Amino acid sequence: MSPPACSIPKEPGEKDRLDDLQRTVSASRLGLFLQCRLKFYFRHVLRLKKPKTPSLHVGSSVHAVLKAWNKARWVEQPLTLKQAHDVFFDAWADPAEGSVPWEPGEEECEKTTGWRLVETYLRESHVPAEEKPDAVEVPIEADLHQHGLPKLIGVLDLVQQQQIIDYKTCATTPHAEKIVHATEIQTSAYALLYRHNTGQQEKGMQLHHLVKLKNPKVVLTPLPPMSPQQETRLYRQMEAYLNGLQHGQFVPSPGMHCASCEFFPECRHWH
Ligand code: SF4
Repeated sequence: MSPPACSIPKEPGEKDRLDDLQRTVSASRLGLFLQCRLKFYFRHVLRLKKPKTPSLHVGSSVHAVLKAWNKARWVEQPLTLKQAHDVFFDAWADPAEGSVPWEPGEEECEKTTGWRLVETYLRESHVPAEEKPDAVEVPIEADLHQHGLPKLIGVLDLVQQQQIIDYKTCATTPHAEKIVHATEIQTSAYALLYRHNTGQQEKGMQLHHLVKLKNPKVVLTPLPPMSPQQETRLYRQMEAYLNGLQHGQFVPSPGMHCASCEFFPECRHWH
């Protein structure tokens, strides 16, 4: 294997990590690799640690409540609003979630925003509390070695009546057409995982965006089942991933996405 196109010295274990990354891939890893290979290298090969961002912390705390809420529906003992509130505040304070470099006053403000998002979602009943899910937070995989590809792995947030539902928190209202395109790697990967594990085609997918506005809102984007063309695109993207890793092609891809990149200082030193 050629060395990566990066001036940062190799750490012990880097080769093992590269080997592991070629054996399995998730939608988020694939998406990051295709967005910027150098960012992928910093995060997944060198494993450079960075503080958690406020928006990530809000997202993971909101996600913890939705997970608990769906699991409670699974055992047919729906959570009360008070229980959901407790889950949110426990998740917020969980030290395992890592520390966030808050600005003065920022944490209380973000915490209130996060809880208001959850409250809005539950109040608007986008998924009826009494309807039992097909699956909640299920880790699944698809062996694609017959295609010469890594094993695909992932965790489905929720499957309800053969519809794959994925939760997202965001700061602005998603544009319906653009969000379908922007999330295609993830939605195609989830559809493939669902089909490999159930032997059935999904009835469709839904993106549930919880939007952090002054007045929080929920935007639902329904999607049809994955098309054959989307499935082929996913295979070609995975081939590019495997090829890139095998050849150590970790070059930067500067663009608008750099504004939120935590590895900006390291990237500026790359040559
Ligand atoms: S700053 Fe931009 S180009 Fe550099 S690693 Fe981050 S995303 Fe990639």
